[in-house]
Amino acid sequence: MTRLVTALALTSCAALAARGGAPALVARDVYVMGTRATLAAYAPTRDTGRAALDTALAVLDETEGELSTWRDTSRISALNHQPVGVPWQATPTLCHMFAAVWQWYEATGGAFDPGIGRLLEAWDVHGEGAIPTREAARRAQSLSGLSRLSFDSSRCTLTKHADATIDVGAFGKGEALDRVDAALGDSAWMINLGGQISVGGPTPAGGWPVAIADPRHRDRPFLQVRLLEGSLSTSGGSERNLVVNGIRVSHIFDPRSGQPARFGGSVSVWHRRGLAADALSTALFVMGPDEGLRWAEAHRVAALYLIPAGDAVRVAASAAFQTAAGVRVTGLE
Ligand code: ADP
Ligand code: MG
Repeated sequence: MTRLVTALALTSCAALAARGGAPALVARDVYVMGTRATLAAYAPTRDTGRAALDTALAVLDETEGELSTWRDTSRISALNHQPVGVPWQATPTLCHMFAAVWQWYEATGGAFDPGIGRLLEAWDVHGEGAIPTREAARRAQSLSGLSRLSFDSSRCTLTKHADATIDVGAFGKGEALDRVDAALGDSAWMINLGGQISVGGPTPAGGWPVAIADPRHRDRPFLQVRLLEGSLSTSGGSERNLVVNGIRVSHIFDPRSGQPARFGGSVSVWHRRGLAADALSTALFVMGPDEGLRWAEAHRVAALYLIPAGDAVRVAASAAFQTAAGVRVTGLE
């Protein structure tokens, strides 16, 4: 991240500079929402930059407090503990969020399905990882999927038809970044939240330089891109995979089969909205490059796959990625 900050210090933020004086770049590394985050802002003064980062952090903390499944006091935990058949009332903000969640669940044919809390629990995805017995896997699968819940968007209620739970892993970070976007005013900002990057405000000349990691070694950059607006989310890479009895198990599951997804590369999705980029990178990882690129072309979604092939990595992008307003590939590492 030091490299990012250095690179930015050398570029100019025309939109801010035009208001007089050289803009100040302020950056901070924190641990939030269970992951490492880097926040940076370009602002007319250091104080306004710092204030923007304070606001962003407060929004991330608040979103974590609302969505976290680790905290028993969060709203999502309350939903997960809600008895079957009793409607659960969502706040207007969560109602808006769940409308988007259901939209992407349906559009991806269930490849993105955060109703798989029981399945992920059976495989201990958020712990050390475990291979469930055939019976436990079958039972978990029978309690998994958004099809076990109904969402009434006019009343903003969710009702469970089975003892299913919601896992926010594939959309919570994107939702948090969208809330930051709504909260920040004039500053130009960039947040890298555990691999999902959003930017907002006036764009620095040429955009924010960011890297897409090598899918085989998550800490090695592979592609250099510039982000001009919106959000870039990457799913995959080995970092978060589990190793159970010597077998490598992805933390991303195919909700349709109930098995860990098998794709060995990564997929990055650019979208104006963070939640959409987040949900879609998970869905396209589940689909894999063949099905995923067909889906991305049909839905005009900006997706870029990095596909390990022997010693090399093949790059395959949808047409929408090549023409997307918010992202440009500038080079290979
Ligand atoms: P990361 O968290 O590494 O950025 P993703 O955004 O792709 O990766 O989200 C993966 C997380 O989402 C998993 O750790 C799990 O909590 C949850 N998850 C796994 N598979 C799915 C799926 N098919 N649909 C929705 N959520 C999923
Ligand atoms: Mg995701």
